[in-house]
Amino acid sequence: MSITLGEIYRVAVEKGISVDARGREEIDHVLGEAKRGFDKLEDSEKEFFDAEKLTNPFADTRICLGEPDLQIRGMLVGIDMETPEVVLADRLRERGEPIDLIFAHHPEGPGYANLHEVMYMQADLWAKQGVSIAVGDQLIAPRAGEVRRSISPVNHYRAIDAARLLGFASMSCHTPADNCVNAFVQAWLDERAPRTLDDIVKSLREIPEYADGARKGYGPSIISGSGSARADRMVVDMTGGTEGPKDALDRLSAAGVGTLVGMHYSEDHRKHAEELKLNLVIAGHISSDVLGMNLILDEIEKAGDIHIVCTSGMVRFKR
Ligand SMILES: [Zn+2]
Repeated sequence: MSITLGEIYRVAVEKGISVDARGREEIDHVLGEAKRGFDKLEDSEKEFFDAEKLTNPFADTRICLGEPDLQIRGMLVGIDMETPEVVLADRLRERGEPIDLIFAHHPEGPGYANLHEVMYMQADLWAKQGVSIAVGDQLIAPRAGEVRRSISPVNHYRAIDAARLLGFASMSCHTPADNCVNAFVQAWLDERAPRTLDDIVKSLREIPEYADGARKGYGPSIISGSGSARADRMVVDMTGGTEGPKDALDRLSAAGVGTLVGMHYSEDHRKHAEELKLNLVIAGHISSDVLGMNLILDEIEKAGDIHIVCTSGMVRFKR
């Protein structure tokens, strides 16, 4: 059974929605807001509106190149897919690999330019832990603005322009994969209920992606708190675009969270967590991204036959 670019995109978005912490109702509200925003626009403004917002609540996940009905025989998939990876795809195709699509985790093109928009979901994630949604909305807005300004000068379409010249389709899938890893690791830890931070690290290493990371030198590690410290309430913090505001740590700690398990934390966040006596465990950035992408690829493979070649940090483990 063959698969098209549009089907791959829909499968990724639907999977991301199905495990989204906001829930279906809140997502319908987000999509409805986009529709109301669109309806209010002057005709001259409408051509600048991203119509994908009407059906896809993830601003960082887009088909960047290629028509939805394009048949995809195979893809080159990786965490960062820049011009070198596009050229690599061309070399692999020359050697006979049936590669039609460059499939990236970290957003490219339109998904990169609008990455900050998915950050607002962080308020919903904190609200689930007992932080007021009103506080969350106020905390996230300035941080999302900061991220928007910091990415605006970037050359967002560089790798896509390379893909166009070499005749590939291009797509990036960011928050749907991060939603998958977030839900998966939260359920994993909830089920195993590790007692201490060391136990969290061991429990994470039972997941093939983290074991692979650990063997390669970037396994799970504790960056705030001691190994023998009790974990208490563990919250997996792996989705929502990019790192949130530091102040959210105060609120989460006050709401009774004992340990945050994230992909990565800045040095500022780590210092702040130490002051708050909040435990931080990092599972690993690339290995977490890989786990999320594998959960998406499992769904894509169920939807149709596709040849998958991995690069740029990606390692395929099936479930
Ligand atoms: Zn990432």
